[in-house]
Parts: sequence; C-alpha cells; structure tokens
Amino acid sequence: MSLESLQDLYLEQIRDLHSAEQQIIDALPNMVERATNPKLSAGFTRHLEQTRQQAGRLERIGQRMERKVTGKKCKGMEGLLKEGDEAIDEDGDPQLVDAALIAAAQRVEHYEIAAYGCARTYAEALGLNDDVAVLQQTLDEEAETDEQLTQISLSILSPDAQTRIAVEADADRPAARRPQSRSKNTEARP
Ligand code: FE
Ligand code: FE
Repeated sequence: MSLESLQDLYLEQIRDLHSAEQQIIDALPNMVERATNPKLSAGFTRHLEQTRQQAGRLERIGQRMERKVTGKKCKGMEGLLKEGDEAIDEDGDPQLVDAALIAAAQRVEHYEIAAYGCARTYAEALGLNDDVAVLQQTLDEEAETDEQLTQISLSILSPDAQTRIAVEADADRPAARRPQSRSKNTEARP
C-alpha cells in the first residue's frame, strides 16, 4: 500500500503487530513444552494468554478504523521465531537450553516494545486516545514480561547473584521506601 497519511502508516504498523502476535501465539506452545524450569514454562503459558488478549486489542483498533488488520506478514517476527526454533532444537544441559529459550524470547519482547512504542506514538499524534491507552497497556505487559525473563534467567544461571542483586536494589532504594524502614516509622508513631 502507498503511505499517503499518518493513518496509513499507523494501520500498517497495527497490521504488522497483529501478524507478529499471531505468530507468537503459534510459537509459544512449543516454548512451554520445551522449557524445563517450572517458572519459565508457567511464564510462557501466562504470556500466551496475554498475547491472545493483545491480538484482540489490535483487532478492536482495526474495527474502530473500519479496516482489516489481517493479511500482512511480519517478517521480523518470522526471523526471530526461527531463532527461537533453533533454541528449541538445542540439546544439552536443560538449564542452558532454558537460558537459550529466554534469550530468544527477550529478543521477541524487545521487538514488540519497539513496534508498540511506534504505534502508540502515531496514535498519540492522531489523537486516538482509546488506542493510546490499549497500546500502552500492551507495552507495559511486554516490558514486564522482559523483566520477568531476566529474573528467571538469573535464578536459573546464578541463584546467588539474584539474591545479591535483590539485596543491592533494596539498599539503593531511599530509606523511606524500604519496607523495613517503613515498619520502623510506623512503630515510632504514637
Ligand atoms: Fe505481544
Ligand atoms: Fe510479548
């Protein structure tokens, strides 16, 4: 299609994202099955359900524009998921295979974060406030999934490092926001 307006570009991005989400819906069951770590397979299962909702949000955006969101193939996601297939086919240490699955999944999340960020910006520029809200909701879910994958990776590869980082993060927080300090403050009150 030729891009004559920002709305054209926006629709193209939404269609690309819909294809990406559909491909992820098809790919995630294999990731769930291949993951050994229970937290990882549960995380993939949870994200599969989220991904179905994300695809539904894109379909509702299309309905509001009275345009179809199907019929485009996201080639970027196709390539990333091929790399995911390579991780699925790896043999060897189950923990390292899990780490390889996470490496592939985090590439997917970052692609989505970039694409949803663009789409949300276009929706903002077009004054489509309902779309901005749902795209931001998806963007938040993708960022949260990425963070959870980092935590699972760390817990698999270096449980000691994960504890150390959690303690350091707590120490970096301002005293007033530390749960322990808060309870002390509460005790000090009359
Ligand atoms: Fe997604
Ligand atoms: Fe995602």
